[in-house]
Amino acid sequence: MRTDTVLVHLGRDDEQFSGLVNAPVCRASTILFPTIAALKAAQRDKQKNLYYGRFGTQTVKLLQSACRELDGGYEAMLFPSGLAAIARVLGSLLRPGDHLLMVDSVYGPVRDFCENELRDLGVSTSFYAPEAADELGAAIRKETKVIFCESPGTMTFELQDIDKVVAAAAAAGVVTVIDNTWATPYFFRPLQHGVDIVIQSASKYMVGHSDAMLGVAVTNERCWPLLQRSSAAYGNSVSPDDCYLALRGMRTLGVRLDRHFASALKVARWLESQPEVRAVHYPALESSPDHAQWKRHFTGASGLFAVEFPASVGEQAAEAFADSLELFGIGVSWGGFESLAIPAHFRRNHASRVKGPVVRLHIGLEDPDDLIEDLSRALKECIAAAMAHV
Ligand SMILES: *Cc1c(COP(=O)(O)O)cnc(C)c1O
Repeated sequence: MRTDTVLVHLGRDDEQFSGLVNAPVCRASTILFPTIAALKAAQRDKQKNLYYGRFGTQTVKLLQSACRELDGGYEAMLFPSGLAAIARVLGSLLRPGDHLLMVDSVYGPVRDFCENELRDLGVSTSFYAPEAADELGAAIRKETKVIFCESPGTMTFELQDIDKVVAAAAAAGVVTVIDNTWATPYFFRPLQHGVDIVIQSASKYMVGHSDAMLGVAVTNERCWPLLQRSSAAYGNSVSPDDCYLALRGMRTLGVRLDRHFASALKVARWLESQPEVRAVHYPALESSPDHAQWKRHFTGASGLFAVEFPASVGEQAAEAFADSLELFGIGVSWGGFESLAIPAHFRRNHASRVKGPVVRLHIGLEDPDDLIEDLSRALKECIAAAMAHV
């Protein structure tokens, strides 16, 4: 079956719930068993069976199975946020004395997690340039246990050559993890390319309506036992209400993402032709240095990209630009139906191809021509005006 059909049928149990199209929110802490023997039988596989609320009720397990199927993995674990998923995955794989290769364009809070929490646990991190897949083999040490990817990178949108990363990791017996929040399994399925664990912040496109937080990690068979043990040991648990919202969001993931893609491409193409814009960082653009790589692996692009202004314009003008937009909300996170704008700040160890001030845009489900009119006015008012002053 093709993905749009799968999205409609996954994670449902019409029989168990007497024909209800949507599995209800099943809330529980205690779950009762008729006998001790029945309790013991359930305890043997807490991922599959109902046992105790912390390990999930029907609603949680249906979302879990849907996520596993969507990414084509061995098992899926849900977390209260995307960041919680990343922290627990890394925590399950790394021990004192180990070394982590982390992509330099990673989501900022993950960089903080490496530099503070992992450091305190005796794990060292080296940040590698996203474009440097060819040099990754040489960067692997005998203590290296994990290579972490995020493609495209947060704020700067560089793609990584996942085939090369996987080959370098396989040659050294290193585990590969990828943050696939931007593409979702609808546009890219990293496990099919040999990545060991794929993580998604479901707070973004899976939930899709800016009203719940969730994280997902889908693993292959090799990495599952450690992740399951570690998640259970740290008391990981998610709310069935949030899982209900994620399941409901998932039904429309395909139609929403197709529309985000079409609108974002239209807006991005228009933006890059404007004299006030230095570059638009979006791998779906033919002008992107990553375009060929994007076409090779991705079946589409989501609604998130960065617009870069000339360095002479200054940060203040970029902030004024975001402030003056009327149809774009100002706020962190993204992936809902609404458009957003935020000045993008980022730290890098390696030189970035992004030099000037950057505003990250999320192109929502509004009519793209209205968004273009709003952007056009703000460019003239804030960026053209600043350029005239220098
Ligand atoms: C938002 C985000 C996260 C964190 O997800 P939360 O659900 O907000 O914790 C991780 N990675 C990327 C790329 C993100 O955009």
